[in-house]
Amino acid sequence: RVVVGTKVDQNHVNWVTAYNMLTGIRFTVSRTNAKLDRDLTEADFTARHKFSFDITGNELTPSAKYDFKFKDYAPWIFRRLRATFKIDPADYLMSLTSKYILSELGSPGKSGSFFYFSRDYKYIIKTIHHAEHKLLRKILKDYYQHVVQNPNTLLSQFYGLHRVKVPYGGKIHFVVMNNLFPPHRDIHQTFDLKGSTIGRDYKEENVVNNPRATLKDLNWLRRNYHLEFGPEKKNTFLEQMEQDVHLLQKLKIMDYSMLVGIHDLGKGNQENLRDKTLRVFQPGGDTSPDDILPSNPILTRTPSKLETARKAHELRKIIKHEKPIPMGESSTRMPDQMEENTSKRDFTFYSDDGGFRATHEDNTPGEEIYYLGIIDLLTHYGTVKRLENFWKGLSHDKQQISPIPPVPYGDRFIKFVMDITKSREEVREEVRDEVRD
Ligand code: ATP
Ligand code: CA
Ligand code: CA
Repeated sequence: RVVVGTKVDQNHVNWVTAYNMLTGIRFTVSRTNAKLDRDLTEADFTARHKFSFDITGNELTPSAKYDFKFKDYAPWIFRRLRATFKIDPADYLMSLTSKYILSELGSPGKSGSFFYFSRDYKYIIKTIHHAEHKLLRKILKDYYQHVVQNPNTLLSQFYGLHRVKVPYGGKIHFVVMNNLFPPHRDIHQTFDLKGSTIGRDYKEENVVNNPRATLKDLNWLRRNYHLEFGPEKKNTFLEQMEQDVHLLQKLKIMDYSMLVGIHDLGKGNQENLRDKTLRVFQPGGDTSPDDILPSNPILTRTPSKLETARKAHELRKIIKHEKPIPMGESSTRMPDQMEENTSKRDFTFYSDDGGFRATHEDNTPGEEIYYLGIIDLLTHYGTVKRLENFWKGLSHDKQQISPIPPVPYGDRFIKFVMDITKSREEVREEVRDEVRD
């Protein structure tokens, strides 16, 4: 089964939710951005603002198609985070709210989260559980300080935390974050790596039919792959990875993975050229047995001056609320602006065409570009423990499901990532040494 990322248009079951999410983001982000910058205060980390939207609109909020409530969390912190990650405010709003609707990424996995790509594939909206939401609010200050001190962090980049609530409906919490994979490059292989081997296998017999499936630790090991970095790049990568994992250990977080997307320069973008409109996705990391990864449409041409001018004009209208979000209007068109996210070039791990290029031992460039990041950061040990007790009541196989605490989890993760950056030579030497001992 191939899960095609479905466009969320007016006929989609989640159309209203998606519309409300984007309307809320547009309103709250432009509201915060319109203010003069100021120093952060302690209260900014816990701030939350509630807005009511309805058909008529009121003195605070513009009119919207549907009635809903929207909560914006720590707007000043996220404004600062976006600035630290060099996200252009206008570009952010454009990507998330104008012209093209989102595409929903298949059906949810075990976690039940939904994923949505922005129209230009730069951003991902992920719905999160209440516990994850509470955790992000709790760790926000540590996360913020870490990002400021480690602008090249490999951790997921969070750009916003919000909640929508529809009348008689539930509350939906969601985060906006970076899409690790580039809009303009084919990803030929994807791995979601945790450093564990239990259950970390994607059925090899399904790989033939799903060459873009997200593979796991055992698939990686079976292929005898390694991340090919010369000494300098390797050090930079491993040092940052360790810094990041130390933070997660301190915050008692676990169950995260290293997401590795591989673009093979030899293959180039052929798959995309052949099938530009197919947008596939694999949801829910661990559980979905038939994961597929996003096929990123390439930039087929650069936008003309007229288009750029039109885009800027549209944007000004949107920011000034003169215009309703034109979602749906152009829903049959595909994004024509699949451009490189150039703002990311300043960051080490995104500096080679949006990723981090392989290098040979002698520092000459390799044949692959890696897209790397640590994702799924919002699982707290306490939550997993509770779930475990629940499962223990149902299963006898306690060992298999026992979650390992955050410190050993992180240590095991670090060791695994270090191991996979070793060259075949290094591994061979180590084996030789072991045999000698
Ligand atoms: P589970 O808890 O069952 O692992 P989840 O719903 O929490 O699932 P994630 O682990 O966050 O989901 O992500 C699932 C998959 O979605 C990943 O393996 C990856 O393929 C894709 N994905 C998640 N975040 C990103 C991202 N920032 N950029 C690109 N792809 C992503
Ligand atoms: Ca996961
Ligand atoms: Ca998860």
